[in-house]
Amino acid sequence: MPANKKILFLPGDGIGPEVMRQVRRVIDWMDRKRGLTFDVSEGLVGGAAIDAHGVPLADETLAEAKAADCVLLGAVGGPKWDNIGFDKRPEAGLLALRKELGLFANLRPAIVFDALVDASTLKADVVRGLNIMIVRELTGGVYFGEPRGITDLGNGERRGLNTQSYTTSEIRRVATVAFELARQRGRKLHSVEKANVMESGLLWREEVTKLHKESFTDVELQHMYADNCAMQLLKNPKQFDVIVTDNLFGDILSDEAAMLTGSLGMLPSASLGAADAAGNRKALYEPVHGSAPDIAGKDIANPIATMLSFAMALRYSFDRGQDADMIEKAVQNVLGGGMRTADIMAPGMARCSTTVMGDSILRELDK
Ligand code: ATP
Ligand code: MG
Repeated sequence: MPANKKILFLPGDGIGPEVMRQVRRVIDWMDRKRGLTFDVSEGLVGGAAIDAHGVPLADETLAEAKAADCVLLGAVGGPKWDNIGFDKRPEAGLLALRKELGLFANLRPAIVFDALVDASTLKADVVRGLNIMIVRELTGGVYFGEPRGITDLGNGERRGLNTQSYTTSEIRRVATVAFELARQRGRKLHSVEKANVMESGLLWREEVTKLHKESFTDVELQHMYADNCAMQLLKNPKQFDVIVTDNLFGDILSDEAAMLTGSLGMLPSASLGAADAAGNRKALYEPVHGSAPDIAGKDIANPIATMLSFAMALRYSFDRGQDADMIEKAVQNVLGGGMRTADIMAPGMARCSTTVMGDSILRELDK
């Protein structure tokens, strides 16, 4: 018998542990009902790790993350650890984890559930059925480019400098992930940059075009300038299926796309690394929202973003698309039945706790 797949659970801080507890119940359900047994181990990251070990990511935890088939993370940070220095912050633990695992492709879906169509900032008919995937390059670009720094120019003048830089291999590996996703979805990819004013953007466009011709002619490729993409996302978001873009534009466009869905507590994400010879990738799955210290410990947080992050893990790390579909369908039905945590509350609906949302999803899975 092949060994069980290994998942490292890093609940983290704030609402992280509460929402992860509900995912744990779904994993147990999968084990009982679908014969899908994972070896789940738990570790500490962020503030929880600082309190226990004095660092936001202990070496042993990092080693466990490297040995696992994927990592599922809750959230890190909170006011308790706000003033302890840049490198010691809870967030530094997450950044180190991403870097050490080499996670260069950040996948952020923006999905509008039918039951929540009125939560969007846009008109219902513009977003109904929306399901787009933004692939953001995560380890390169202007956030990391050298040289960088603030220099004194004399006469009271100072200069802040950052460098936008991409190499062909950095572009190709993230574009490959995006093309492969597009192939599994609607076979349409928008590659987004500013090739009209930036050299890195020009190279991006050239390489994506080359890769398309070489390996992905079955996917329809369109190039789009980032400013136009920002506009098109508000004007007609359903024209998009998969969008691939650099670190900076991806940061902004994925937040913009998130707001089309109107509900932060609903959005999952995945960060993927390079595939090894057997096709396995290092991967980390986490909700888009943060640790929400204002509501932590009250059993009112929405666990759906984390639940959907686990569904992404099933799809992208374990090749269990059907099981992922089951979870997504259960979420859809629970929402359709009027069940709402406080963050997605609407008149006439039943307000429920984190735990009751978990109960409802499990009951739906049982059907
Ligand atoms: P980050 O940690 O990324 O900086 P942030 O401080 O920008 O995050 P969050 O911690 O995500 O933001 O919280 C923003 C707001 O959204 C808060 O009021 C929080 O209570 C609410 N919120 C976030 N996640 C959830 C959730 N899962 N359920 C309910 N409310 C949430
Ligand atoms: Mg925060």
